[in-house]
Amino acid sequence: MRPFDYVSVTDVQSAVQTIATTPNAKFLGGGTNLVDLIREDIERPGTVVDITRLPLTSVTAVGNGVRIGALVRNSALASHPLIRTKYPVLAQAILAGASGQLRNMATVGGNLLQRTRCSYFYDSASRCNKREPGSGCDAIGGFSRGHAILGVSPNCIAAHPSDMAVALTMLDAQVEVESVRGTRRIPIGEFHRLPGQTPHLETTLEPDELITAVEIPETTKNSRYRKIRDRASYAFALVSVAAAMETRDGRITEIRLALGGVGTKPWRATEAERILAGAQAGEAEFRRAAEAELAAAVPTEQNEFKVELAIRAIVAMLREVNP
Ligand code: SF4
Repeated sequence: MRPFDYVSVTDVQSAVQTIATTPNAKFLGGGTNLVDLIREDIERPGTVVDITRLPLTSVTAVGNGVRIGALVRNSALASHPLIRTKYPVLAQAILAGASGQLRNMATVGGNLLQRTRCSYFYDSASRCNKREPGSGCDAIGGFSRGHAILGVSPNCIAAHPSDMAVALTMLDAQVEVESVRGTRRIPIGEFHRLPGQTPHLETTLEPDELITAVEIPETTKNSRYRKIRDRASYAFALVSVAAAMETRDGRITEIRLALGGVGTKPWRATEAERILAGAQAGEAEFRRAAEAELAAAVPTEQNEFKVELAIRAIVAMLREVNP
């Protein structure tokens, strides 16, 4: 591990001033990803700015929605009464991720920023455009069973690893960020980038911006999350589905659908939503919508199975949330 300087801050303005004036500095929250990346020599900060003492740890009702401080720990958020009653999909998604110990440390802001678990990314002997731009991608033509099938590019096929972000994407969350230039809000759908030509750029967050909160508007409570993976816990998704639905007289009046484990970013299933909006809720329509969403899939030989797995997972979840 390379040596780095350590600074601790206790208010947001000091945090953004420090990051703006310190070259090659990184914020440290729960550290559940950053510390691994420093140990593996993938992240090489000159200074680590410890933000764990910032007052960003509350979950509060705002109008009919909720505001979540960026430093709320994942386990605290999953067990919060507001989240459990109004946004069960979010509680379920968080509890499907990582392990109890990791959830006790990991923060909401850090979860949004966690980096891919592509094994080539962590192996310095491999070519990886995300780690070393322009070096190539050893996952393409290599071991790619867990990789993405949607939003891929010839430069990177890494799947986005977060469960929480899939639920937040389905819920149309807004990410509030702060810098020396002031406050701005980023719709979650615009927060993560597709890899395109620049897989090393993963979000639209500027290097000197701090995530301070996530806000979720009011939505139906009839929402669920299901994760399909190789073992029952402490594994990343092969496919996951966050779904919410309301109907009137059998017709769909509200539909929200997002996918994990298949996209290079948390994947909002907009094509499936378009087909389902106003449609008669039923198995045939669910399957048609799921197939339409997956029509854009570009799998490898090793992860072709994810196409049918995702279709079946979507249909099963829509069946479950069909009131
Ligand atoms: Fe790197 Fe992306 Fe290729 Fe994995 S899939 S080796 S993260 S460029």
